[in-house]
Amino acid sequence: MRIAVASGKGGTGKTSVAVNLAVIAGRTATLVDCDVEEPNAHIFLKGDVSSTDTVSMSVPAIEENRCTGCRACVEFCGFNALISFGGPPLFFPDLCHGCGGCRLVCPAGAIVEVARPLGEVRRIDAGRCTLVEGCLEVGVSSPVPVIKAAKAAADGDFVIYDAPPGTSCPLVATLRGADYVLLVTEPTPFGLSDLRLTVEVLRQMNMEFGVVINRSMRSESLIHDYCHHEAIEVLGEIPEDRRIAEAYAAGRLIVEALPGYRPLFRSILEACLERVTA
Ligand code: SF4
Ligand code: SF4
Repeated sequence: MRIAVASGKGGTGKTSVAVNLAVIAGRTATLVDCDVEEPNAHIFLKGDVSSTDTVSMSVPAIEENRCTGCRACVEFCGFNALISFGGPPLFFPDLCHGCGGCRLVCPAGAIVEVARPLGEVRRIDAGRCTLVEGCLEVGVSSPVPVIKAAKAAADGDFVIYDAPPGTSCPLVATLRGADYVLLVTEPTPFGLSDLRLTVEVLRQMNMEFGVVINRSMRSESLIHDYCHHEAIEVLGEIPEDRRIAEAYAAGRLIVEALPGYRPLFRSILEACLERVTA
């Protein structure tokens, strides 16, 4: 079973919800930190790194002494990763999709493939659960291959994906294959605006989802009104509580620093499981 925890914007408490749910789920749960540009679940789930795998992609390298400047590779590449002004082509690695086609069409055999490191996937035994963390290499523009590699490294029956913020390709890559999506939002106009955008993405992907309101204030009905209008289920509300902010700032789990919140996280987790198995 795979549950994704997502939010349209950063700073809503998405990671906090994801790590606390993983700990409530227990030792057999695996949390995958798919926010590979800025992974931070390890701050809350500390442990020893048991394995590290490099994520890389095969990209072309041009042997200039063999290149005739024929431009066949430039014309083949639909991603404009190669340009030529008559001599050996210039290569732009961030545009390359690693298809290998340029090497195949080169009549002079002047293109070889080399591995370009894109990031790492680390497996951490965090005691209460397992953490799989994707980490993007500095200077690499697309996080998607590292997200896919991190997801592929997660085994076990119960997996939680901590999604990256935003509504573009990294989010879509994270959500693919999830059985249910938990959207974390906050009762502010910004929270509502980003919630709307994320709901649009989820509906286009035809995914099942529900909402958790973080920093909830009983007096504020903004999110409830929207969810009611859109027939979206609210699975739980985490109240505005200074003690939660203090626990977060200290890198502590809510369910450990404030055990009184364990039933709330358990009920959110059980609600997700019920929606998946329903
Ligand atoms: S491997 Fe594919 S995408 Fe990359 S430069 Fe060659 S043709 Fe273009
Ligand atoms: S296809 Fe080969 S020979 Fe032609 S420009 Fe590209 S690298 Fe050079």
